[in-house]
Amino acid sequence: MKLHRVFGGQGSAHVTDPFLLLDNFGSKLKEDYEKGFPWHPHRGIETVTYVLDGKVKHRDSTGVSGTIGSGELQWMTAGSGIFHEEMPQVEPEGNSGLQLWVNLPMASKMQKPKYRAIGKNNAPEIELHGGSKVRLIAGKLGSVEGPVADLSNPVEYYHVKMHDGSLFEHNAGPGRTAIVYVLKGSVLSGENSRLKAGEAAVYDRKGDSLSFASAEHGTEVLLLTGQPLNEPVAWYGPIVMNTREEIIRAYEELNNGSFIKSEAEAEDI
Ligand code: MN
Repeated sequence: MKLHRVFGGQGSAHVTDPFLLLDNFGSKLKEDYEKGFPWHPHRGIETVTYVLDGKVKHRDSTGVSGTIGSGELQWMTAGSGIFHEEMPQVEPEGNSGLQLWVNLPMASKMQKPKYRAIGKNNAPEIELHGGSKVRLIAGKLGSVEGPVADLSNPVEYYHVKMHDGSLFEHNAGPGRTAIVYVLKGSVLSGENSRLKAGEAAVYDRKGDSLSFASAEHGTEVLLLTGQPLNEPVAWYGPIVMNTREEIIRAYEELNNGSFIKSEAEAEDI
């Protein structure tokens, strides 16, 4: 599967905490995406899949299956564990999207797995004074709350759409991690640093307002903010726990067939 890894890995986990990994996948050529992400496990994290073009079919070991269409998201809390596959479907428009991994707090890692399917029309789009529009997936903006509102570590997930010269300003609060990723176009941020499509920036955690201005029409940005967990990270493949012992136990359970602890709950939003 052809993808652009924006960030990810044990080495950068403290910088992006509570976010672990962001991939921007996709291509117009079917050879680049038709193999997809075949059957694999997850434990201890949430995976958030946002399909921008095309469709991704998924099914898992606890009996949940479905299709994520263009403009739709799946917010999956893997919790104590699932096996699943995520398969992009071959379409003339190709396939593209984002997958984000959000770490779970130590106390919530072994929670019951849960899926939230967010429909195309079920995330509010809010027009802001500076000329930006925000598609609100998780978190609050003013008095509006996004559809994903029951997370053990509440994060903000905004898809910001801008005209030429639109300004976006946001205060995530002191101590929080804030990351911008430019999906389309370009922005000017901070002291005139320019970010182009495919580039990301992590803000400091001083709690000042962050702001960026679009440098061209049709600019689109993903903004993520979250409270760092400040907990140890033990990461091996698709499983992220707090200690090496928990990783060893997870792989023993994968080998002896006791990895799955509970069925997943599924909610359509
Ligand atoms: Mn997966």
